Amino acid sequence: MHHVVIIGSGPAGLTAAIYAARANLSPLLIEGWQSGGQLTTTTEVENYPGFSKGIMGPELMKEMRAQAERFGTKLLTGDVSAVDLSQRPFRLSIDGERTVEAAALILATGASAIQLGLPNEQRLIGHGVSTCATCDGYFFRGKDLLVIGGGDSAVEEATFLTKFARTVTVVHRRDKLRASKIMQDRAMKNEKISFAWNSVVEDVLGKDLVTGARLKNLVTGASSEVACDGIFVAIGHRPNTDLFKGQLDMDEKGYILTSQGTATSVPGVFAAGDVQDTKYRQAITAAGSGCMAAIDAERFLESRET
Ligand code: NAP
Repeated sequence: MHHVVIIGSGPAGLTAAIYAARANLSPLLIEGWQSGGQLTTTTEVENYPGFSKGIMGPELMKEMRAQAERFGTKLLTGDVSAVDLSQRPFRLSIDGERTVEAAALILATGASAIQLGLPNEQRLIGHGVSTCATCDGYFFRGKDLLVIGGGDSAVEEATFLTKFARTVTVVHRRDKLRASKIMQDRAMKNEKISFAWNSVVEDVLGKDLVTGARLKNLVTGASSEVACDGIFVAIGHRPNTDLFKGQLDMDEKGYILTSQGTATSVPGVFAAGDVQDTKYRQAITAAGSGCMAAIDAERFLESRET
């Protein structure tokens, strides 16, 4: 049995691992088959303190992972397929093949990109539809692209995609962006970027590859077809909490509810990062709450011993 098991390898999970390892708790971190979390699908991170010139997301995660390993974190590559939080030690099944037991558990499973939910969007994923500009932008040299959404992700992706694309049109359902001012300003100044305001995607067009989209203007009600080669969907994320449904208190969107720091409704189970954060959702806040979860877990284990 492990003292502390951490599920998730984004900034929250890895920071929890660094702190738990340095507290001599020999944590086991289950990193999933796609390790590193959302920062591995981003480009330059300019707002993570300590990197005055910025750092690439994947590089930052590589450093955090190495730091966690340096202090004795054991990393297990695999996906958690089931958890039993009904009694201690908590039991986790990894890929349905092996079982891990934990006296304390830190959940840092993060969040995943939301899609529009259109049948043709699903059909053309990987054939022009993408949720990751960093991963797929390279394939769209000289092409015309749409980016859907008005938050930081959409504006950041649109700006990044101008490195490759001929034009990028940001399709947003309102007439005002949600993105931070500095990122908005950068996008507005970029000659390759234009905006389709008050608009939503009604359908994705194309047989084998994306050839366009049908947009609907929400003010006029008019539909129009726009030719494009790629559609990047950046409309937010949903927490990865399906595994814990019915076992922990969550809000209506599935975010884990925490109190007194990172405590969940089950004693000994702590949650950190985007899985419990409906408000800030930054790499630095995820890392901060990972640190808190490790300290909370350490105190929980100490209190059980005395
Ligand atoms: P977000 O802030 O939730 O923005 C989602 C955007 O998609 C909103 O503009 C929303 O429109 C739109 N949207 C939602 N559902 C839609 C639908 N079904 N159809 C069309 N449009 C839809 O998500 P995010 O941009 O992924 O950012 C998440 C968090 O990460 C934020 O806290 C953000 O600050 C942070 N982040 C930071 C950076 C950075 O600092 N470098 C980069 C990326 C993300 P409405 O505006 O009308 O709601």
